[in-house]
Amino acid sequence: MARKFFVGGNWKCNGTAEEVKKIVTILNEAEVPSDDVVEVVVSPPFVFLPVVKNLLRSDFHVAAQNCWVRKGGAFTGEISAEMLVNLGIPWVILGHSERRLILNESNEFVADKVAYALSQGIKVIACVGETLEQRESGSTMAVVAAQTKAIADKVSNWVNIVLAYEPVWAIGTGKVATPAQAQEVHSELRKWLHDNAGAEIAASTRIIYGGSVNGANCKELADQPDVDGFLVGGASLKPEFIDIIKSAT
Ligand code: PGA
Repeated sequence: MARKFFVGGNWKCNGTAEEVKKIVTILNEAEVPSDDVVEVVVSPPFVFLPVVKNLLRSDFHVAAQNCWVRKGGAFTGEISAEMLVNLGIPWVILGHSERRLILNESNEFVADKVAYALSQGIKVIACVGETLEQRESGSTMAVVAAQTKAIADKVSNWVNIVLAYEPVWAIGTGKVATPAQAQEVHSELRKWLHDNAGAEIAASTRIIYGGSVNGANCKELADQPDVDGFLVGGASLKPEFIDIIKSAT
């Protein structure tokens, strides 16, 4: 089954109103393959979501970087899935390692968020990935399988999920996974999906790679058969993000 290439830009907790508008201008002026070929989704901080959504070209989409685990209410400081729906925000990133590790989000909590966001009609970029220590102790696949299983236990329809494999040791470090390392985990994740969620879900779910992707290393990674796109942090704030989008072809 053909899987449309997916490029996400995770702006994290960066930018001023002026800087955000500059990035949007660069994106709007870029010549990139059509949205039949590549799906582009950028994820500004919450406070900039409305302005980015309003200014951004219509073939690119926006994602929130998080949302609350259940219906909104007395949860000071949180943003609910209902609010994202109300603003017409189609995507959310959930389970990013910065939230798992710094904010102690467990596999179950992330999975509950994924299930709730999907139930409200929001599409999810669900992140999994091992730490350096876990990789060195040989538990990479056990870690990403447990993170994926928590989601699979709560979700049966994967049509609106993109799975992002983001090794923690590669995020923001400049130490990108080699194409072979990425392909190995992606193909094992696809096999895991095949064995646990079914052949159709395994064949159709996009598994994207994140961690120090840049304009220079994206092409070789994109050439791997099980790498269906990228989730880009640092480089998504720079013009080279356009080159990463172009690696779809
Ligand atoms: P990076 O971040 O591209 O800056 O390594 C990726 C991510 O955290 O999604």
